[in-house]
Amino acid sequence: MITRKENAVFDDYQLSILSRIEAMFPAVSLIATSGHRTPLEQLHVIGAYSQGFQYPEFTPQDVFATTTFELDGQAVHGFRWLRTWGECLHRGIIVNPPLVVVAPFDYFREGVNKKGQLIQASNHIIDADLDPRVKACPIDFSQMCGPRPDIHRVAEIMEQAKLSGIPIKNITIEHGNGCVHIDLVALPFTGNDKVIRRG
Ligand SMILES: [Zn+2]
Repeated sequence: MITRKENAVFDDYQLSILSRIEAMFPAVSLIATSGHRTPLEQLHVIGAYSQGFQYPEFTPQDVFATTTFELDGQAVHGFRWLRTWGECLHRGIIVNPPLVVVAPFDYFREGVNKKGQLIQASNHIIDADLDPRVKACPIDFSQMCGPRPDIHRVAEIMEQAKLSGIPIKNITIEHGNGCVHIDLVALPFTGNDKVIRRG
């Protein structure tokens, strides 16, 4: 069984993928934690991850709110979440920003410091009306497999689902977030489909 986390939003295509995984593993209990997210929901994710080290200007209410703060010894004007989000990356908590911005602090990935580089917004943030035949929105699963956390077992289930033909493109274990992220293959055009509406 796959439980959908309260408030998580999935479109019809994602729901069909969830049913196919469920049908393949009827005895396994998984939790789908995220499908489509808005920039504001992404900000809430950052708020949850940054408990204990938020900068004073951080507020989880407004993605577009800006203020003046210090960065590299200079007063700069920027989003209220920028430094707190940058600190998440600096501490190894890999989380996308709500909007495309430049990483403000040192943050190493594969030995490269990404400070000063443009970081894309979460790939769960997709226009609600975007057709899954153009780009499919990914799904996150919690690390829970039945009553126990077992992130590798969850990833293995996704790997088996992919091998059996369920259109999963990539599987990423996100240790920092305690989840398994799957990217889906865009739905093929068949010529006479109706446009799938968000569920
Ligand atoms: Zn994800």
